[in-house]
Amino acid sequence: MKPIVAAKTDVGRVRQGNEDSYLIKEPLFAVADGMGGHIAGDIASATAVDLIAERAEEKMPHTTAELAAIVRGANSAIWEKAASDPSLKGMGTTCTLALLEDHEIRIAHVGDSRAYLYRGDELSQVTEDHTLVGRMVKEGRLQPEEAERHPQRSIITRALGVDADVAVDELSVTVEEGDRLLLCSDGLTSMIGADDVSEVLSAQRDPHTAADELVARALEAGGEDNVTVVLIDIVDDSVAPAPAPADPATAAPVAAPQRETTEPDTPPPPAVDTGVHRVPSDEAAGWEERPRQRRWKGLVVTLVVLLLVAGAAFAAARYTLDNSFFIGADDSGTVTIFRGIPEEIAGLTLRESEETTRVSVDDLPEFLRSDVREGIKAESLEDARQKIEDLEERSRDREFTKPSSGGKNN
Ligand code: CA
Repeated sequence: MKPIVAAKTDVGRVRQGNEDSYLIKEPLFAVADGMGGHIAGDIASATAVDLIAERAEEKMPHTTAELAAIVRGANSAIWEKAASDPSLKGMGTTCTLALLEDHEIRIAHVGDSRAYLYRGDELSQVTEDHTLVGRMVKEGRLQPEEAERHPQRSIITRALGVDADVAVDELSVTVEEGDRLLLCSDGLTSMIGADDVSEVLSAQRDPHTAADELVARALEAGGEDNVTVVLIDIVDDSVAPAPAPADPATAAPVAAPQRETTEPDTPPPPAVDTGVHRVPSDEAAGWEERPRQRRWKGLVVTLVVLLLVAGAAFAAARYTLDNSFFIGADDSGTVTIFRGIPEEIAGLTLRESEETTRVSVDDLPEFLRSDVREGIKAESLEDARQKIEDLEERSRDREFTKPSSGGKNN
């Protein structure tokens, strides 16, 4: 049983850098989606795939327990790196690691990247998302369709590098000729639905074309996040064409992770200087002729513009303050619902405490604390209260960050 593998990663249309990493080191495959800021997220996911590649070089894993041990090793490596460098504090990454051996796919998994099995026109998600909304779906408090578009869908409840230990899901699936295994970051699944993924996998039999189209569809849908796919086609050895590694990303075993940090199709970020310093030519000419008069006129115009801008900003701020809610921490570190926005605008704080809770930020798992301190936006007061309930639950139930033994979770 020999796979044909295709992979594609793209920075997307919004982000400045690509924090995803992936690994193809047959029969081992991985996707890691970094978080914690552009540089740190990139380092976290790269550290994970580098370490997996290194460990596999020393000794190729076979069992799910061995895969999970490698993932926990990656967790320690990232945790230690983050602890030794303040600029990397809070970084983390998802990791979905798959091994194809003996007609079986064995997986070790943490976070919200996904593994899907496509068999006979049917797509099934093999891994479980370790997210706040994933948990709400599991408890029947949210429909899967609602979860796909939920504003907090990217809050993950488990990641590598955010705690000294991590619970790793271990699973295995028997595979047959014709099966397709898809590993992807949430930049794919938060942009397009399972129906779209199915449609592409059904229509595009060539794995490279399929991988390209999956990424293209995520970009068309907005490309709000980095998107990475690794597609593994299980083919019959006797009829399989020799894999043609035209794309370096699909070349035979590579020790180094394949990562892209630039994307030629993405428009360059807007220039910092947007032309506000330009002086209209007629004004420039007038300045030469009547300097004093021009200067006064210029001052008056500037003053009027400033007043208008201030007035508009005030109206906008007032509107925003009255109609937005977020969950944050007050001065004493208590989780609080605020009316307003977490960001400061021109040094102004646009928030008022709306409701307070009994939960202290320190009671939350470490990786949720920074989310709360930065502010978790809510659609409405009702939505904020619902989220507080989830946080309260999390503050009571912290076992998922402190696995009691062995890290085996499912
Ligand atoms: Ca992502």
